[in-house]
Amino acid sequence: MNADNNCVVEIEYTLTGDDGEVIDTSEGRGPLAYLHGHNNIIPGLENALAGKAVGDSVKVSIPPIDGYGEHDADLIRAVPRGEFPDPDKIEVGMQFQASSDQGPIVVTVTDMDAENITVDGNHELAGHTLHFDVNVVGVREATAEELDHGHVHGPGGHHH
Ligand code: ZN
Repeated sequence: MNADNNCVVEIEYTLTGDDGEVIDTSEGRGPLAYLHGHNNIIPGLENALAGKAVGDSVKVSIPPIDGYGEHDADLIRAVPRGEFPDPDKIEVGMQFQASSDQGPIVVTVTDMDAENITVDGNHELAGHTLHFDVNVVGVREATAEELDHGHVHGPGGHHH
């Protein structure tokens, strides 16, 4: 069968950046399983995999708009220390959930001084063109429970 909405698709993949450096890979972890048509993966990769079957390989370069978005300077904010419940425990590199106009986002602490703590709500891959090298290793119908949850259960998916 071919990858289509409401299928579980299993992929082996390697993601590299413009400089050829490997950003992420399934190698050593086993395939990733995702539910096609449910926003489990970035749109550019899902579109490239539509209609593919086991044994197909896909090489695709995905611009930021179909990946993790453009880098948005408005998502970087210097927040007064007093707005944090426990500012002395905060360190550069920490991540936490914050509210935004688009709902909850993950922000990363990127800088701090005596007055402010700077947080960045951009995804770490925002603004990057993503180069994927993918092998399709499984395509199956999703179960009713998987469709209900909007994600895959079992190997390569969620365990709960
Ligand atoms: Zn579930």
